[in-house]
Amino acid sequence: MKIIKADRIIVGDGKTVIENGSVAIDADRIIGVGEIEKLKKQFPNAYVEMKDGCTILPGLIDMHVHISGLYRRPEKAEMQENPAFLMLMVYKHLQDALSVGITTLRGVGEAKGIGAAIRGGYQKKYIKGPRYITCERSLTRTGGHGSTGEVAKIEVDGPWALRHWVRQNIKDGADWIKVMDSHRGSCSEFTLEELCAVTDEAHRLGYKCAIHAGNEQSTEFAVKAGFDSIEHGSALNEELAAMAIEKGLAWVPTIFVYENSVTYMRQVTKNPTKTDLKSFEFLDHTVEGYEKNFLRNYKNGMLIATGTDICFPEMFITPLQDEIKTFVRYGLTNLQAIQCATENGAKILGMADEIGLIKDGYCADLLIVKGNPVENIDSLKAVKEVYRAGERMVCNACGI
Ligand SMILES: [Zn+2]
Repeated sequence: MKIIKADRIIVGDGKTVIENGSVAIDADRIIGVGEIEKLKKQFPNAYVEMKDGCTILPGLIDMHVHISGLYRRPEKAEMQENPAFLMLMVYKHLQDALSVGITTLRGVGEAKGIGAAIRGGYQKKYIKGPRYITCERSLTRTGGHGSTGEVAKIEVDGPWALRHWVRQNIKDGADWIKVMDSHRGSCSEFTLEELCAVTDEAHRLGYKCAIHAGNEQSTEFAVKAGFDSIEHGSALNEELAAMAIEKGLAWVPTIFVYENSVTYMRQVTKNPTKTDLKSFEFLDHTVEGYEKNFLRNYKNGMLIATGTDICFPEMFITPLQDEIKTFVRYGLTNLQAIQCATENGAKILGMADEIGLIKDGYCADLLIVKGNPVENIDSLKAVKEVYRAGERMVCNACGI
């Protein structure tokens, strides 16, 4: 049993800050939050740790990652031949995510068996890392987005074949279902009938679904078919967002990666072809969509969460603090942006009574940073300690 006292606690609900607050934890649970003297009286045997100059927040949630993604990786061929090598990369990405305070990841399209392997590794205590929720392999149409082999996918056409693969993915260990429904073109890659088959089958079996929807038509179909989380979704205009809000659908926009892809792709493409130029144009258009739609949709009550989606080998793959900062740049307060990376992710995952808040009875997933993120969002990067289910898994003695 332990009491951790800091300068403040950011609860994660978008508004509450407890100045000079303390958190009491026992085993994997938060057992008390509030004033230190009160907690000391309540738990007289607890060990007290003082974190002067620090802030305690809930562990962060990254809702959009591909920790086994091989896009543009020079070592792709070796990894495809030897899954053990791939697993080492996955392990590194888990540790990297944990090191920046991420205690929950949702993998939205991963190589076969990654989720089961990570789950098994945690259960058998071979490895430690963030909680990992997996969509297993994503579903794309024949020749659709991801079909070139760099993103783990299953190419499948037709409502019944899609229903089969929803069932197979669940059998293989999926917690969620992911559909890829657009790439650079202007139409939805699946028909509405196919998409409705996916949501119907998944929901019928008690699973939620996410959809990569990056153009107007696929966004419209995603809303109509009732996908639980719309990924990217820069075309969520006022009318579609209103429908989505009414249906309780959430949005994981992944803005930071798109803004960076524009710069990155232009830098690494020496002699751009017509296709490359079309691609740049598409990325610019996506960013314009975020600029137009993000703040209005948030203000109108859309449930929005942070996801990173970085898949370029030269970049850190889970820069969640950068996505949070981007949300601030797009008009949210620091506390609102932090809520998008804590409580909102938990809500989408259906885990809002377990993670995402510093609250009595919740899982003790904690991030302790040096400084005050209420005033300076950059201090979220000054990670001092990370607790996952009550266990301190990251400890930067210097406090950075
Ligand atoms: Zn993605």
